[in-house]
Amino acid sequence: AAKKEGRGERAWFDATLERELRNRNETEAGLRRGVPAGEFVPFFEQQIDLESGALHGFEMLARWNHPERGLVPPDEFIDVAEESGLISDLSLSVFRQGLEIARHWDPALTLSVNISPTQLKDPWLAQKLVKLLVETNFPPERLEVEITESSLFENLGLAQSIIASLKNQGIRIALDDFGTGYSSLGHLRALPFDRIKIDRSFVQSLTDNSESRAIVSAIARLAESLGLAVTAEGIEDTQILERLRAIGHFKGQGWLFGRPMPAAEVEPMLAARNLLAAAPVAVAAPSQ
Ligand code: C2E
Ligand code: MG
Ligand code: MG
Ligand code: MG
Repeated sequence: AAKKEGRGERAWFDATLERELRNRNETEAGLRRGVPAGEFVPFFEQQIDLESGALHGFEMLARWNHPERGLVPPDEFIDVAEESGLISDLSLSVFRQGLEIARHWDPALTLSVNISPTQLKDPWLAQKLVKLLVETNFPPERLEVEITESSLFENLGLAQSIIASLKNQGIRIALDDFGTGYSSLGHLRALPFDRIKIDRSFVQSLTDNSESRAIVSAIARLAESLGLAVTAEGIEDTQILERLRAIGHFKGQGWLFGRPMPAAEVEPMLAARNLLAAAPVAVAAPSQ
């Protein structure tokens, strides 16, 4: 019986692998068609100053506007885009659209973009981003680049030089998903970050886990002594918000403030708050 079961499991395993491989190939073919066809669009998630409640800016998040599947989230295509060498074209296309859109917003609003591990191995990354900023007439001071620790450990030297070039241009750098990587503290010393983004796994367990509270408090103190700003991600309810406000002065984002939305929804919201600039206005450096 054991042998039979074993074979059954094996068949199941093979079928699952085969299905995954087929999905992967379909996704890759879809990307090869969809990237040049302009099917990847930016969505925007609000980032709030938790102390004042003021809108600080937006994080730009890619969505695949798929002709059959509808809006596809990044976990279903970023990995395949990385492996198949399409991530750079995909990201730059989404960034360009996002910059064209956000340059019409109040100049005090920041825009954060995510850079994937493969992009951080491209020696021309900084030049490509700066070229986009020039072409879209978007002030570098309004841009923040989010990188995760997992992008850093493969080629720290190259990452350091890319980050230095970005900083030279006035672009700010955030360490995304902080606490989930390998050697967070070493990276804080090696690289000139402006901000730490506390991963939502710590944030969401704040109300029922005293270890999470201790960790978030320690991150807040560490950030303060290093002169870094802090953003908490994944805030879904007011209890979490109150916990965070009791611990320190954070920026924050999450479904409590709103889901990521397309430009067509951001614009009426900004217009209602008088945050839509009629024309791109002179550069004002946003506050941290
Ligand atoms: P991330 O940078 O950590 O982005 C935050 C993710 O958390 C977003 O998922 C967002 O929708 C989700 N989120 C925000 N608030 C909440 C909340 O209150 N609760 C919960 N449960 N989730 C929340 P999304 O849009 O699916 O993005 C996933 C990841 O994909 C991002 O993680 C980012 O690393 C990556 N990504 C997104 N857009 C791009 C892109 O244009 N280029 C690259 N390279 N990566 C991207
Ligand atoms: Mg991010
Ligand atoms: Mg995260
Ligand atoms: Mg994050």
